Amino acid sequence: MSTTRRGDEIKATSGPGQFRSLGGWMERPDDLQPELEGNVSADVIVVGAGFAGLSTALELTALGARVIVLERECAGFGASGRNAGYLAGSLGIEFEMFLKRVGHEKAKKVVAFYDEGVAYVERRLRELGIDCDYNASGIIRAAVHPSQEKKLRESMQLGLELGSSACFLDQAEMRARGIPPAFLFGCLQRHGGTLDPGKYVMGLRRAALQAGVKIYENTELLSYSEGPIIQCNTARGSASAPHLVLATNAYTPQLGLLRDKVVPLRVSAIETQPLSPAQLASLGWPGREGLVTPHWTMESHRLTARNTLVVTTKRLSYVYGSQTPNVPDNVAYHELATALEDRFPTLRGLGIQSCWSGYISLAYDALPVVGETGEQGNILYTAGCSGHGVATQSLMGHLLAERIGGIEHPLLAALRHKTPSTLPEPLQWCAVNLALGLVHRMDEHVNRKARRVSNQ
Ligand SMILES: Cc1cc2nc3c(=O)[nH]c(=O)nc-3n(C[C@H](O)[C@H](O)[C@H](O)COP(=O)(O)OP(=O)(O)OC[C@H]3O[C@@H](n4cnc5c(N)ncnc54)[C@H](O)[C@@H]3O)c2cc1C
Repeated sequence: MSTTRRGDEIKATSGPGQFRSLGGWMERPDDLQPELEGNVSADVIVVGAGFAGLSTALELTALGARVIVLERECAGFGASGRNAGYLAGSLGIEFEMFLKRVGHEKAKKVVAFYDEGVAYVERRLRELGIDCDYNASGIIRAAVHPSQEKKLRESMQLGLELGSSACFLDQAEMRARGIPPAFLFGCLQRHGGTLDPGKYVMGLRRAALQAGVKIYENTELLSYSEGPIIQCNTARGSASAPHLVLATNAYTPQLGLLRDKVVPLRVSAIETQPLSPAQLASLGWPGREGLVTPHWTMESHRLTARNTLVVTTKRLSYVYGSQTPNVPDNVAYHELATALEDRFPTLRGLGIQSCWSGYISLAYDALPVVGETGEQGNILYTAGCSGHGVATQSLMGHLLAERIGGIEHPLLAALRHKTPSTLPEPLQWCAVNLALGLVHRMDEHVNRKARRVSNQ
């Protein structure tokens, strides 16, 4: 597929839909906030206007702090504006790795952190009056081949032991719910559901502006100095404050921090044309539960309020040197299109209207990465939470604001641990791509088996 730039869009001249450089959910805001010019000061500077940064800014403002947010592009430009919109708790998180890494007691609290994130976002949507098409449908981790049952049940069992709540749905229960037949059986987490992440992050932005947060968009943090007062330098100005929060997630290594702690991974998405009433009726699926699969790299399939299907993940990629170019990933889009055909054969021929990619960050132990740095310990950061940040990175705002106010929330205390160091380049590029290639091959093996069954 060749591409040509047109303003914010890179138009795909062929291939699976139009590449959307801001993701499929949002446009650049009409009231884009002006770039920082000159020198300003505040109580706290937050860098990054995604779920983490905007939630932190809102929570701090409620505590009486004067807050500045510096955002390189516009609010929601990162993963927050371009994810799949699953407000998911602890369903399908890496229980086994957590257990090995931090032990039973701490792993229980980490699981509680993931679930508490859902309740937190639900409460904030109400409190802030954010309408983001939230459908509290619950989420089903649904298998596409019988060989996935063992892993699904084992993961569910371990989750239950760590306090996660879920129940098994057999074939009859899945059919009774009207779940499309490619999804055979599954594990249901009743809380959470799906939302429109663009509307959610823009709702946070609006609430932050109304609360008096000073947001500077088109304002990249270029460097910062440490000390009792931190100075943040941008192209045309500077901001200073006694506290700095780096809510830059997958982009943090580019600031020179967490380079050896998190790996930015590219995640891609496609969105179909709206389904016709007849196509919707043929699907059934009245509860519109968010579906994820138990592949090593999951697939996620959901209906949107505008009656399109959004399919994400399936193939992750890592760019050398932890870079995060905002460019099309055509291999991933084609594979997502194949997943769409495999899981929804009756919709064959349904057009794909758009595709996009974004970046999550992953620690080698898959645990959240949160803490303080700097001579005075007054530079806070939050990253990780891999592909589960809608709930968790929102809740992180509350935990970080309390921390700056002098209170260590028990959930924050539970997340503290030593994050393993990543490999230096070029070893990291080799190791991550080798691992991603291996899990992809294992997933494709399952997909081939599932295709054989459906073709019989
Ligand atoms: C395709 C996709 C699907 C996903 N699906 C789901 C899902 O369904 N459910 C779920 O829970 N999670 C999902 N995730 C993950 C989730 O979106 C993220 O974990 C979450 O949005 C991270 O929020 P954040 O605020 O920490 O980071 P981000 O939203 O990435 O925000 C970081 C911000 O920092 C800004 N920035 C970076 N560097 C600088 C700088 N130097 N100066 C100023 N600003 C800077 C960026 O522009 C960006 O706006 C998905 C992610 C992707 C990409």
